[in-house]
Parts: sequence; structure tokens; C-alpha cells
Amino acid sequence: MTAMSRTIPWRPITASRLSDRRSPLPRLSNRFWPWPTLAGMACCALLQAGHAATPVTDPAAFLDQTESLRTKDHPRFVQMLEQIRREAPRLTSGEQWHLRYLDAWEIMFEGDYAKSETQFHDVIDHSGDVTLAAKASGLLLSNLAANRRYEEAFAQANRLTTALPEVKDPQARFMLLLNLSQMLNFAGQTDLAIKYAAMMENAIPPGETLCQPLSLQVAALDDGKRLTSSSPELQRAIDTCVADRQPVFANTMRLVMGSLYLEEEQPGKALALLDRMGPSIRINHYFPHILSAQVQRAQAYAKLGNDNDARNAALAAVAMSRPDDINDWLKDTYEVLYRIEEKRGNTAAAFSYYKHFVTQDKGYLDDVSARALAYDVAQQHMLVQKLGAEGLSKQNNILRLQQALDNKAVETGRLYIVLLLMSLVSIAFWLFRLKRSQLRFKKLSFHDGLTGIFNHQHFIGEADRALRLLEKKHGSACLISMDLDHFKQVNDSHGHAMGDAVLRHTVAICQQQLRPTDLFGRLGGEEFGILLLECSRDQGMAIADRIRTAIEATPVDGDGSVVWFSASVGLASTDTSGYGLPRLCREADAALYRAKRSGRNRVIAGSDDESLVEA
Ligand code: GH3
Ligand code: MG
Ligand code: MG
Repeated sequence: MTAMSRTIPWRPITASRLSDRRSPLPRLSNRFWPWPTLAGMACCALLQAGHAATPVTDPAAFLDQTESLRTKDHPRFVQMLEQIRREAPRLTSGEQWHLRYLDAWEIMFEGDYAKSETQFHDVIDHSGDVTLAAKASGLLLSNLAANRRYEEAFAQANRLTTALPEVKDPQARFMLLLNLSQMLNFAGQTDLAIKYAAMMENAIPPGETLCQPLSLQVAALDDGKRLTSSSPELQRAIDTCVADRQPVFANTMRLVMGSLYLEEEQPGKALALLDRMGPSIRINHYFPHILSAQVQRAQAYAKLGNDNDARNAALAAVAMSRPDDINDWLKDTYEVLYRIEEKRGNTAAAFSYYKHFVTQDKGYLDDVSARALAYDVAQQHMLVQKLGAEGLSKQNNILRLQQALDNKAVETGRLYIVLLLMSLVSIAFWLFRLKRSQLRFKKLSFHDGLTGIFNHQHFIGEADRALRLLEKKHGSACLISMDLDHFKQVNDSHGHAMGDAVLRHTVAICQQQLRPTDLFGRLGGEEFGILLLECSRDQGMAIADRIRTAIEATPVDGDGSVVWFSASVGLASTDTSGYGLPRLCREADAALYRAKRSGRNRVIAGSDDESLVEA
């Protein structure tokens, strides 16, 4: 006995096909149908009475009703399917896909697995109906296993396991779980098979019963060697299937119990059970059960030492099978036969039966290995795909990281450029401010803060330089020294601010009379110096007097009072005093002094010979 014994198979056994060892559960030959249809098959015999055709008023409801009858009343199902096919042109796209699915189901039921497989694929790939696709996937799984395409079947099972959480339709989900549980049990994955059976128990859709999940659970427990004839799970499954009016499943469970009695060396109990279930097995006429019961009977008799009955029962089992069938039951049958012949000393017969026994045993073991291997291959394949996907996602992560880094680098680069530009702008700004400050300081150092004209020092420097140049050209220039008259009184009478205004006013008046080339400076207090370039003594006297006149004639208007004032001017010319600035200054100052002394508000030109010229 191996762990694969009593696996619930749902595939057909053709002449060359194999089946499970010693399983009393429904087995399928060409004359029997996949597992999901079994419950219905049990009823078919009782429901084959003719039905009058009901008109198709609501195609969708009609299709649902047809589907619900596929196993409960298969002849009626076929009749309704033909009826709705005639209505095909007026069906909606969704209804046509439903019809196509039912057609595929019927094609599979009729045993054309290749054709039904194509149609199931069509429904899965193109119907766009998740529920229909899930149902078709479950049947495709059975289909593949039925054709011993174990690798594809297990691969499909893996896909369905992944898709399971997405399947919300109760009927489709129930079917998927059922197929997965069977498939996993078939692969020797007992724990997983039990898990899926338990999940079915909690999700029984309308029209289904607890019988199927419990039967699957028992099958898995049995294969996992976790069952005895007194296990409560077994009794519960029998009671439930009886209560649910599922005689085929009830008998399947009873046969499991019979098989356990035999294992536990209780052949009397096994025989009693077989006697009790005999009528039901005969009514349902389910071939795997008839054969299985026959083999168990042979084994029970053999264990009881009743070799004649054992031999007859075993020969009856052989007679039921085709000569080239290879399955678990036949192995057990030939084992009974060769032991009896051996005991009786019929060496030739014993050897002949023994050869059959070995062929069956080997065939069974090969099939077990093929299933286990296919399961391993499918698992490995899934693992490789998963690793591949993980690898890809890792690669993608690396790429994403790389891209993020590149983006960061670009951003950082941009940031550097912005920072650099900002630094350059601020440097330029600071340089500009520095330059402006320098210029301001320079201006401050060269100019008088109140009036804006040259300060004393700068005026002297500029005048000296201009005179040297003029000397080379032998040109003429006049140096004017001007002082406001009684300026102190302006301050005293009108305030210092008015005094400042008078000073600025004086500068403005002078500038109106001067050319751009002339030099003008404030020598201190209310005293100014002017160097008139390219200007003769007479021209100078005229300009000086125009200035004086303008000052005298233009009072300052401020604070509601008008301030009249005047200026005294002393002049020295290069024409008479040469190009030396100190001498020119001295002579201009002397002339100014004289202008003050002689009554103010006048222009006096001075020279070495002290001759005075008054404008
Ligand atoms: P004189 O006709 O003899 O030149 O008499 P004056 O009052 O003009 O001459 P004095 O030298 O006695 O006075 C000059 C005054 O000029 C004294 C001083 O307060 C004033 N002063 C000098 N610098 C400034 C200035 O920048 N602003 C103002 N408001 N007053 C100034
Ligand atoms: Mg003065
Ligand atoms: Mg003065």
C-alpha cells in the first residue's frame, strides 16, 4: 500500500491508461465521466423521463437553468442545450459565450477531450467573463489530467491557485477549489488537498452540498494514511452524503471504509459492509464501484481463508475488465488469484497470475511516479518563473534606482549651476557695490560735500595740471578767487541752513557762467576758486563780473524771506603773472583782499606790479 492509494481520480481509463492502486473511489473508464459530473450521474438514471420543451422566453435564465441540470438531469440538459442552440442568433454576446461554455462541457462529457480543450481555451481567453473563465479553467484542469498531461495539468493548477483570490462567483469558486483539491491529492499533496477541501466546506454555493468537500477531505486523509475505519471524518462524510441524497459519493465513502477494514484485518466487517451497500451499488450501476466492491469481496474472502469464494470474486473482477486495462484493482485481484493458486500448488497458474500482478503493479507505480514527477516539474517551473519575476523586479528596482540617481545627479548638477550663477551674480553685485562705494568715496575725496564742486585740494591739483598743459600751448588762463560778503550775517540772521542754501545757490549761478572746461572749486567756507581756461585777462574780468552781477541780482528765496547777498572777486591772469599756480593764487587773493577793502561786491584784477584793475 502506498501513499497514493485510494486517490480520487477523475480521468478516464482507456486501454492503455492507468489508474490508482486499490482505490474504491469512483474510477473512470471511457464509459464514465470526470469527477464533477459524478453526483449528477447518480441521479441521471432516476431522471431520464422525457420532458416537454419549455419555450425560451428569457435566454439568460434559460441558460442558467440548463447549466444547473447538466449533472442532475443530463438528458434534459442535452435537450435544453439543443433548444437554446436554435435561439443562438438572438442571444447577446455574453449569452453566446455561456452557450459555448455549456457546449464545451457537453463535448467533454461525451469524451472529446481535444475538442473541448480548444473550446475551454476559447472561453478562458476571449469570453471576458471572469466566472465563466474560472469554470472553464477548472474543467480544463480535469481535462488535462484525464489525458495524463500531468505537467500541463499541474501548471494549470498553479495558475488557478494564483487566480483563486480573484474568483468571487460562488459556483466558479467551488468548482475551482474542488478541482484543485483533487489535483493536489492526485499529486500526493495531501495537506494542500485537505486545505482546499476545507475551503470548499466554507463556501458551498446554492445547489451544491457538503458531501463533496467532505468526500474530498476523506480521500486526502486516506491517501495521507491518516484515516482508520473509526475516524469521525469518514462517518460524517457517509452520513452527510446519504442525507444529501448523493448515493455515489456515499458508496465511495463506504468503500473507503471497507478498504480500511481489510487493512485493519477485519474482513468480516468488510464483507458485512459490502453486503449492506450491494443493492445501492447495483441501482446506481456505477462501474468503478461494482469493480471495487468485487475486488474487496475477493480480498475479504481470501483473508477469511474462503479461497473458493475469493477466487470466484476475483475472476468476476477480471471478467469485468478489458484484457489490457491496467489499474490498482486488477493488481489486487491478481494478487488474490496468484496467492490462491500458489497455495494450491498450481505453479503454472500462479506464475501466470503473478505476471499479471507485476504488470499491474509496475504500471501503477510508473503512473504514480509520472504524476509526482509532473507535479515537481510544475512546481520547479513556477519557482523558476517566480525567481525570474523576482530577478526582473530586482533588475527593475536597480534600473529605477539608477534612474533616480541619474535624475538626482542632473538635479544636483542644475543646483550647482544655479548656485554658481547665484554666486556669480552676488559677486558681480558686490563688485558693483564695491565699485560704487569706491566711486562715491573717490567723489567724496575729490568733491565738496555741500555743493558738489571740487574741494580745495582737488581744485589745486587740477588747476596746477591744467596750467602746465596750458603753458605748453602758451594759452591764457585766469584764476578767480571769490568770497561772499558778510556771509556770517546770513548765517546769523537766517540760520545755518539758509547759509548752506546760499552757498549752493552761488555755485549754481557760477556754473551758469562757466564753460565745461573751466575748473571750479570751493576753497573753504564761503570762498571759491575758478580757473578760466583759454581765457585772456579781459575775458576773465568780464566773466568774473557777470558772475558777481548775477549773484547780486539773484537772491535766495527761503522760509518766507528773501536773502540778498553779494560777492567780492579777485582775479589773476597768466598773461601778467605766468603759469605758476602759487603766484596766481597769491595775486588773486591779494586782489580779493583789495576788493573787500574797497567796499566789497566788486571784481579786482591783480598783478606783480600791484596795478589794480577793477571791473
Ligand atoms: P566778509 O565780508 O569780511 O567776508 O565777512 P564775512 O562775514 O563773510 O566773513 P567771516 O570770515 O567773518 O565769516 C565767514 C563765515 O562763514 C563764518 C562761518 O560761520 C561761515 N561759514 C563758513 N563755512 C560755512 C558753511 O559751510 N555753511 C554756513 N552756513 N556757514 C559757513
Ligand atoms: Mg571768507
Ligand atoms: Mg566772506
